Parts: sequence; C-alpha cells; structure tokens
Amino acid sequence: MFYDVIIIGGGPAGATFARLAPSDSKILLLDGSPLRSGGKGKPCGGLLAPDAQKIIGRFGMKIPSEVLTDPQIDYVKTVDYRSGIIRNYGRTYINISRPRFDEWLLSLCGENTEVRIGVCNGISRTEKGFEIRYRTEAGDTVTAGCGYLVGADGASSVVRRFAYPKAKPRMYTAVQQRFRDDGAKPLYSCIFDEEITDCCSWTISKSGYTVFGGAYPMDRPRERFEEQKKRLEKFGYDFREPFETECCTVLRPRSGRDFFLGNDGVFLIGEAAGFVSPSSLEGISYAMRSGAALASAMRRKNPERAYRRETFGLRAKLIRKTLKCPFMYQPTLRRAVMKSGLMSIKRDFCDGAEKTK
Ligand SMILES: Cc1cc2nc3c(=O)[nH]c(=O)nc-3n(C[C@H](O)[C@H](O)[C@H](O)COP(=O)(O)OP(=O)(O)OC[C@H]3O[C@@H](n4cnc5c(N)ncnc54)[C@H](O)[C@@H]3O)c2cc1C
Repeated sequence: MFYDVIIIGGGPAGATFARLAPSDSKILLLDGSPLRSGGKGKPCGGLLAPDAQKIIGRFGMKIPSEVLTDPQIDYVKTVDYRSGIIRNYGRTYINISRPRFDEWLLSLCGENTEVRIGVCNGISRTEKGFEIRYRTEAGDTVTAGCGYLVGADGASSVVRRFAYPKAKPRMYTAVQQRFRDDGAKPLYSCIFDEEITDCCSWTISKSGYTVFGGAYPMDRPRERFEEQKKRLEKFGYDFREPFETECCTVLRPRSGRDFFLGNDGVFLIGEAAGFVSPSSLEGISYAMRSGAALASAMRRKNPERAYRRETFGLRAKLIRKTLKCPFMYQPTLRRAVMKSGLMSIKRDFCDGAEKTK
C-alpha cells in the first residue's frame, strides 16, 4: 500500500500532526505502544504544564473529564537534598491519565488517517520516497510505502536513527515507580540531588497512588534510583513498597545541535526531534506544537524550509531553557535562587519555605 505520509508514533506529536495535516493526504499512522508497553502506554508523570494547557486552549479543544485524574495540583514543592532547603512554587498543572490522553488525541484524527498497531523495524529509500517494514500484533511482517516519512516515535526514534545515523543526542534513563497512598495531600515535588543525578526527580499524587520517578545518567540508572529512594526517607518520603516499575529513555537537549528536524523527505517531530525541556523534561506541549508546525509546513511549496521556519520560536524557547539549566542544576546558583525566595509564591496556601536537616 502507498501513502502520501507515514507517521511512525501515535503520541501527542504524531496524533496532533495527523489531526491537522492536509485532509487530502492519505496517511498511515503506525503506533507500537500496545505492543511495546503491554497497553500501559508511555511512562510519564501525566502533568499538563501551563504551556500544554495553553496550546490545547489555542486549538479550541476541551479535555474530556475521563482523561483527568485526581488531585489537581497548584504548587510544586522543590527539595534541595544537600542543603535541606524546601520551597513551594505556585504553578497550576492539570493531572491526567497519560494513556487516556493519548487515546483521546488519537481519536481526533481525520478519516484520511488510517491508524494501525505495529512496530516499525526497517526503513529504506525508494524511487518514490520510502518503504517501511513493521511487525503487526499477530507477529506478521508487513511493508508500506510513502512519499513523506514522519518520525514521531519518541526518544529512541528509529526514524531519527535512519535520517541521522551518526547523531548522538544526550540520553538519560527515566525510572518511575508507583506506591499506594491515602491521598491525604495533593503533591507534586521536584527533587534535586546532584550526588545521584544531574537531572531532576519528582513525586506526583495520582488517583490513590504516588508516583516517584527521575531521570538518571545511563551509567547505573536503577542503582541510582534505589539509592535516591533511601536518601529521601529523611524528608519523610516512604518508597518501600512499589506496585509497579517502568523505565524508558528520555532526551535532554544541550544546545541547538541536539534538534533534528529531518532531511530529504523525512521529518521529525516531538521528542524524536529533541523537542523536550532540558530543565523540567516537560515535553507534551513541544510535541503538540511541533506536530502542528509540521502540519502547517506541509501546506507550503517547500515543506522542509517551512518546517524550519515554523519551529524557530519553539527551538529558541528550548535554547533559552538550556541557558536556565545552570540556575536549576548548579548547586550554588540554585541554592541562591531558592534562598532568595525568587519565584516562590502562594505561601499562604502551602507550607512556605522550610529547612530540614
Ligand atoms: C518518566 C517521564 C515522565 C514525563 N512526564 C511528563 C509530564 O508529566 N508532562 C510532560 O509534558 N512531559 C512529560 N514527559 C515528557 C513527555 O512524555 C514526552 O516529551 C512526550 O511524550 C513526547 O511526545 P511524542 O509524541 O514526541 O513521543 P511519545 O509520547 O514518546 O510517543 C511516541 C510513540 O511512538 C511509538 N513508537 C516508538 N517507536 C516506535 C516504532 N519503532 N514503531 C511504532 N511506534 C513506535 C511509541 O510506542 C509511542 O506511542 C515525561 C517523560 C518521561 C520519560
């Protein structure tokens, strides 16, 4: 079968692109999630940050109630392990079920999009464009051809590896565990502990359980995670009895060189392109924005040039975030910011600044 466009990956980037792509294009969207994660979906904190809320609003979309989970969260408790400083910052997040959010976005694709379950495991160039090979749920190997190939297949993108075989973007391993809780206190905390990882860790309350997760250098990620759980006991966290563990890779761009837009008929969107915040690892808004940018670029005479132009603002924003990283991840600078109370608001609502140790 030949399509105008094949999209590999049905997360927020792929689903947004498919929904907004020109309606006269014949599209195949291939998603391997049910085969790769046993139906549990992508490991994710499932928080829609203000940027994601804004873009959903700009699209005129309303999140269905069945996608939301309790509790809704309006502050972030920030923990600096070494100094023991804890501060609360006011920020409103929408707490969602990530699998239901992805399902909802996929359900909005137009009739020109055929959604299939399969894992792409081979790509080659042909005279007319590309041929992809994929494994179906039944275990069969199937091929399909297309004019344009869109990689929306996340951090370990096969499409990115095909288009940029020599690229080595910075990767971390994310590990998350779930623990039952009594739901007494809605909590989103962000933890900094550079002896364990130079990236952040988090806890999130979610419909009767707590998620604890973090992103760790590729060297011994699981050991670092277990060590961090023990270290956090002194702050009152109890991570002894997980009922579920999940892990995956996550990209963390360092500079403009870590963005991959695609080449010669291949386009990359979402995390596959490196569009994820290096400071907070928030990625849903960037996935949706880049999917929309490509859909708009596809209507232009030169889609490659148009996509570059359409993503300029998004890339500039992410580069500004790489500049913010030293203030979050350099211990002395971060402590100075936390002690100064900069960005700390809503003290009357939450606990205010505390010091443990
Ligand atoms: C642990 C963790 C927690 C996070 N928490 C948050 C959060 O709370 N809020 C937030 O905004 N961001 C969060 N992020 C980041 C966010 O999840 C990603 O940036 C976002 O999901 C990227 O969307 P995407 O559509 O580009 O890719 P993805 O959501 O990764 O979707 C890619 C899709 O492609 C499919 N796929 C991959 N390879 C193949 C293949 N070979 N064949 C077929 N299909 C394939 C996958 O199964 C998947 O369905 C988190 C990331 C991690 C790792």
